[in-house]
Amino acid sequence: MPLERADAARRAIRRLDESEANRIAAGEVVERPASVAKELVENALDAGARAILVEAEGGGIDRLVVADDGDGIPREELALAVERHATSKLVRAQDGGLDLLDIATLGFRGEALPSIGAVARLAIASEARGAGAAFRIAVEAGRAEPVAPAARAQGPGTRVEVADLFFATPARLKFLKSPRAEAMALADAVRRLAMAHPRTAFRLVMDGRRLLDLPAVEAEGEAEALAARLAAVLGRTFSENAVPLNAARAIAPFGEARLRGLAGLPTAARGAPTHQFLFVNGRPVRDKLLQGAVRGAYADFLARDRHPEVALFLDLDPRFVDVNVHPAKTEVRFRDAGIIRGLIVSGLRHALAEAGHRASTTVAGAALGRFRAEGATPAGLPGLGLGDPRLGYARPLAPVTSEPGFAAAGLDEHAGDAAFDGAPPAGAEAHASAAEEAPPLGFARAQLHETYILAEAADGLVLVDQHAAHERLVYERMKRALAASGIARQVLLIPEIVELEEGAARALLARAGELEELGLLVEPFGSGALVVREVPAMLGPLDVQGLVRDLADEVVDLDAALSLKERLQEVAGNMACRSSVRAGRVLKIDEMNALLREMEATPHSGQCNHGRPTYVKLARADIEKLFGRR
Ligand code: ADP
Ligand code: MG
Repeated sequence: MPLERADAARRAIRRLDESEANRIAAGEVVERPASVAKELVENALDAGARAILVEAEGGGIDRLVVADDGDGIPREELALAVERHATSKLVRAQDGGLDLLDIATLGFRGEALPSIGAVARLAIASEARGAGAAFRIAVEAGRAEPVAPAARAQGPGTRVEVADLFFATPARLKFLKSPRAEAMALADAVRRLAMAHPRTAFRLVMDGRRLLDLPAVEAEGEAEALAARLAAVLGRTFSENAVPLNAARAIAPFGEARLRGLAGLPTAARGAPTHQFLFVNGRPVRDKLLQGAVRGAYADFLARDRHPEVALFLDLDPRFVDVNVHPAKTEVRFRDAGIIRGLIVSGLRHALAEAGHRASTTVAGAALGRFRAEGATPAGLPGLGLGDPRLGYARPLAPVTSEPGFAAAGLDEHAGDAAFDGAPPAGAEAHASAAEEAPPLGFARAQLHETYILAEAADGLVLVDQHAAHERLVYERMKRALAASGIARQVLLIPEIVELEEGAARALLARAGELEELGLLVEPFGSGALVVREVPAMLGPLDVQGLVRDLADEVVDLDAALSLKERLQEVAGNMACRSSVRAGRVLKIDEMNALLREMEATPHSGQCNHGRPTYVKLARADIEKLFGRR
């Protein structure tokens, strides 16, 4: 049934007045306190702030303040700043037109301040550089007051205060989550911006508690600065369990696109994609294309429901990317998405290959934690930190100093004795390995439960899941063979005929070419059946029927977001699983040692095809601590 209008007569078209238009625009730009904070912090960054203070009360719904020491707004522009479609950030080209594709600032639409003013109580006090005096303007539910002198006179900068968000649009207020949930989202938004702008000091105070206190990083190189800020924001656990990444690709005629950051080890993956931080030219984004590329890069290592932790910074000529496709500017569009996807996938894969057989230290930490008496601090194990020279990050990290000071910039919060709870977790120092000659995974000493290999290394004890490890090795071997010359195939003496559902058979045969590359030769055999003539030689004897049925299932519900190649690699992973050493098989010491040596020599061997660790290494020093010997 069609919705009935109050009165049936058609109404004439009427132009919305400014405050109505602003309220509608606000619906897109100002979704919740976190989006207000994001817009205001972006404005501060665009104004060249060296220090930014964010204060929030009641999840940012009751009150939100963003203060900066940037260029400020001149008195005569204050009224314009809160008007819709008024911005200082778009520069007219010589022909008088606007170049919307050459945007170097975070803002450009002139919508944030009027939108906020339309739905809340907004007050802006600002001192423009060189003005020597401050002025203020207030807007309530869309009505602006005249500009007036302000008390603030502590040097250039701007202080924006937003109170009673959505008081003017009670319907929207109902869509907010609890103040606690809004506070978390707000902190997340500030943290993301802070990650991408290491040269600016950030302080976040919520309900009087200082949640974030990040000094401006003074390291010389951009990569170093980024690394220092990431470590400060994300903590040691993340940086210890991630590999640095630095890759570039030509995007002619726009120079090159560069990808920097940290790629979390697959064994440190999480159940939700909450720890994926993606940035394009300093702008935090949640872009499907970028997320898909990350998925694709890890498809080889992770089960479908596991999500890697990554912090990726993509920097490229603004003309190659359109940021004007989403109201909150969190999605972007690239001129050539394929190049960018390729850069991300290959950059991540390369970085992960560099990790060799490393599994994450969190695995050992968790294992030790189980043993440890309550109350003891969890120990870290040696890991590849941010200081790793592979990224060109300096070692040790350049010192950070808190300059410019918040007090000096007139950005003191009223928090007073707020507790500082953003301190890095107290971790154990890295333990140097005792003997250089002994292999990292040590020598096999015993097989336990016919499933685990116990090995003794110079600096600790290693426990290997023989099935998981072997499966990964077979898989890596297959990939190498595939890359080199295509997988060697073995002709079946008697071809196997496999009966399938009509559709499944067709779907599988449609991919016969790619299957052949993987060493499996299938041909049609009447309707609903196919014949397998050759199989990958490296798999040895195998259950052809079962394999083809599995493949058919997988091809039928192929995830459209992943490319076929990635999925077939996953299928190859399953092939590897079928042919690998089962748990429950007795191994000789020589066989066990061979497995250990191959793991050391094989990239990605620290995790199985589903992202679970293939081994745990307990450092000798930690074991000693466990027994109170240290
Ligand atoms: P946009 O950022 O898209 O230009 P906004 O509504 O966020 O639109 O801001 C309008 C204008 O107000 C900006 O173009 C800028 O000139 C000025 N402005 C806003 N916030 C600040 C700030 N913190 N410091 C200096 N200028 C600011
Ligand atoms: Mg803005």
